[in-house]
Amino acid sequence: MAVDSCQACGGSRLEPFYELRNIPVHSCLMVDSREAALDFPRGDLELVFCEDCGFIQNRLFDPAKENYSPDYEETQAFSPRFMRFVDEICADQDRKYRLAGKTVLEIGCGKGEFLLRLCETTGCRGIGIDPGVRPERLSSPALERITFVRDFYGPKYAHLAADYVCCRHTLEHIQPVHEFVTLVREAIGPREDTVVFFELPDMKRVLDELAFWDIYYEHCSYFTAGSLARLFRATRFEVEHLYRAYGDQYLMLEGRPAAAATRARLPLEDDLAATRARVHRFREGIGQRLDALRRDLERWRRAGRRVAVWGSGSKAVSYLTTLGLGEEIAAVVDINPHKWGKYLAGTGHEIVSPDRLADIRPEVVVIMNPIYTEEIRGDLDARGLTPELVPL
Ligand SMILES: [Zn+2]
Repeated sequence: MAVDSCQACGGSRLEPFYELRNIPVHSCLMVDSREAALDFPRGDLELVFCEDCGFIQNRLFDPAKENYSPDYEETQAFSPRFMRFVDEICADQDRKYRLAGKTVLEIGCGKGEFLLRLCETTGCRGIGIDPGVRPERLSSPALERITFVRDFYGPKYAHLAADYVCCRHTLEHIQPVHEFVTLVREAIGPREDTVVFFELPDMKRVLDELAFWDIYYEHCSYFTAGSLARLFRATRFEVEHLYRAYGDQYLMLEGRPAAAATRARLPLEDDLAATRARVHRFREGIGQRLDALRRDLERWRRAGRRVAVWGSGSKAVSYLTTLGLGEEIAAVVDINPHKWGKYLAGTGHEIVSPDRLADIRPEVVVIMNPIYTEEIRGDLDARGLTPELVPL
């Protein structure tokens, strides 16, 4: 059932600008066989831009198709680069909000690594809620101070009082975003000292870089700094900090509940006209971008060069399915051992460990997230491999 109003502001002036048909509805769910991966449930995507608030959503998203469970393997915690980033966030948040002895609620805590790190480094207590949480994988004395709940966050958890509420890489998976942020606000109630911290992908970069691999079914909601701040102000939060992190890939918002917005708007918020222009440039340019990448792959194929893709997360599924790639890719590699021997939804590629590349000997490695290029170069060097690296 297609949505015909903006899930952030309720507006109805929605401009379509990008379409994908028949794409896998999940990209991080572990699949045990090639057949099941090829047969993976599919759905359609039509991104629309809200002329009133700048929010971008997949109007064809059907939440009934989604199935988050402990088999969901989204963690980036096997990457030292990523864990450095997690440590930086923990230190920064503790500097600002002095979390020792306080209670932190993490909505959508994934496998729980961030919450655990926050509790370890700041001395806070934690409550983590996620349908895919796997506390048995974690070990640390700080686990004593953490309660994990394997579920979706919802009204039944509104009684959980916390001094600090964080929600990282979750809002983009939620369709009724206004309803969701309102629920968070209502759960906080009159406790106006509560801090909220949200982290999610920044659509500005995706539009500017024509980064179509960051657009996929699981992400039904796409924000820029402006549309995110507007949603929080509309749901009675004061936005105190709004900034980008991780090579400008992520948007970070920190705020507090407020009866009415009082502070002046922050510089990043005024992006509605610029976002509209970016959406138009994306619509004009995406066809050429896809053609150029297909030409690269064709050139490598004709030259008989073996191509591997490094990274088997959502970006890889989107890159491969959007370009319609199959046998052109000799291997899909991941450093997360929980993914080895599993198959990529939609394309059926087996996910292999970096060690397997010693046999496959790729001549080109396409890197799904450029931020890991140096880490990957080191992993390849250690195995005596020197393929051409092509960061997306
Ligand atoms: Zn809107």
